[in-house]
Amino acid sequence: MKLKDPSLLRLDSYIDGKWIDAGSKRFAVTNPATGDVIAEVADHGADQITAAIDAAVPAQKAWAKKTAKERAMVMRKWYDLIMQNADDLAIILTTEMGKPLTEAKGEIAYGASFVDWFAEEARRVCGDVLETPQSDKRLLTFKQPIGVFGAITPWNFPIAMITRKVAPGIAAGCSCVLKPAEQTPLSALALAELADRAGLPAGVMNIVTGMDAPAIGQTMCADPRIRKMTFTGSTEVGRILMRQSADSVKKMSLELGGNAPLLVFDDADLDKAVAQSILSKFRNAGQTCVCANRIFVQAGIYDAFAEKLAAAAAALKVGNGLVDGVEQGPIIDMQGFDKVKAHVDDALANGATLMTGGKPHALGGTYFEPTVLSGMTRDMRLFSEETFGPVAGLFKFTDEDEAIEMANDTEFGLAAYIFSENAARIFRVSEALEYGIVSVNTGIFSSEVGPFGGVKNSGLGREGSKYGIDEFLEIKFVCLGM
Ligand code: ADP
Repeated sequence: MKLKDPSLLRLDSYIDGKWIDAGSKRFAVTNPATGDVIAEVADHGADQITAAIDAAVPAQKAWAKKTAKERAMVMRKWYDLIMQNADDLAIILTTEMGKPLTEAKGEIAYGASFVDWFAEEARRVCGDVLETPQSDKRLLTFKQPIGVFGAITPWNFPIAMITRKVAPGIAAGCSCVLKPAEQTPLSALALAELADRAGLPAGVMNIVTGMDAPAIGQTMCADPRIRKMTFTGSTEVGRILMRQSADSVKKMSLELGGNAPLLVFDDADLDKAVAQSILSKFRNAGQTCVCANRIFVQAGIYDAFAEKLAAAAAALKVGNGLVDGVEQGPIIDMQGFDKVKAHVDDALANGATLMTGGKPHALGGTYFEPTVLSGMTRDMRLFSEETFGPVAGLFKFTDEDEAIEMANDTEFGLAAYIFSENAARIFRVSEALEYGIVSVNTGIFSSEVGPFGGVKNSGLGREGSKYGIDEFLEIKFVCLGM
């Protein structure tokens, strides 16, 4: 890895403001584009999680005593350092995760935006003076940080999923213990290095790397000093964390799986729908929880849409994300690759038509061809499971009610997409979709300003936006007798 500042490449856990070695106990981080081992990172477990919580408790008390402006100034410095080091951070990210470098740069800016945004929001946390129901009393609310929180993050956004949790938390005056995904610890540790340089006090953000995720999660959830868990990942692991947190009644924020429907109506702008569907479906090689998974197209526009989408997908340049012009990188690992292949094989065996792609890419490894399948039906795996790969499955529908019914026929409810130029339809369908996010006539909706989160088995709580900081605050009611 050629970095302007090689000292961003950290290989140890960051606990209480110090880099903690794990001796020979280390795990390998590989580049999914080449299969090469790029680093050996400290393999810490439950003991270091407890040590991090020991540090986070007193650090939180001191951090919360600072004024919001003081906290905001440190965060602002962290933001500046992230942006100044964006090129190096993007190289680290692409090398450990595989997404194209331009997407990695986009993620750095997106990830940094949460630090900037919540530095500002820190200063706008306001309690209330309530109208009193009795003349001899005065009623107030205080908003106070919830305390120490635990965070567990996934590999698909190695920077942004950390800042989207840590920034609102530390803005509110909390401290945290975070375990990044074992596939992508280097981005997390580089963020810690920059937070350290920005002057974030020791113990406010602790990052512990380790392979034994179940033991780490269990230790966080069992410790009563952790007052909140925030997690992005699979629904299955989200449920485990929720169960494990029950005994100490922790507040939970969960961003779990999705199975995003994308609805293209006859009255859509065809070229816009195709271009935006490509962005929604194929960015990050289809590995985001808001990527379109099931594409429902109305009968009148179906054939034209399918043809144009297949042509656009076939034109995507696949390769190592560090190479200029590459639009689709490898799948993160063999497990992810096998699932993608299984979904395609299942669809083809059950009567789907292959429009383009459909098999492992000639580059080998975990590369998979951008794939478009038409004639999809409900009994196929892709309908009920998230593919998390570069596979667009097209389902035909006749009328609006049928489209809504199919779109809602899933345990998940994170993001949904509508393509239509009819305002009344846009309102009707947006209201009827059982999803936390509805994206209309655009394949990309994420920013620090919009609330991100799902309903049903897609999770609890909202991240980003003016609401995101509430997840890290408690409301205290103070009743004052006069
Ligand atoms: P993915 O399929 O995207 O890897 P996971 O839910 O398995 O989704 O992983 C998301 C994060 O959860 C990662 O940091 C992973 O290490 C962690 N994780 C996996 N299993 C557990 C578990 N049993 N308890 C706590 N964390 C876990």
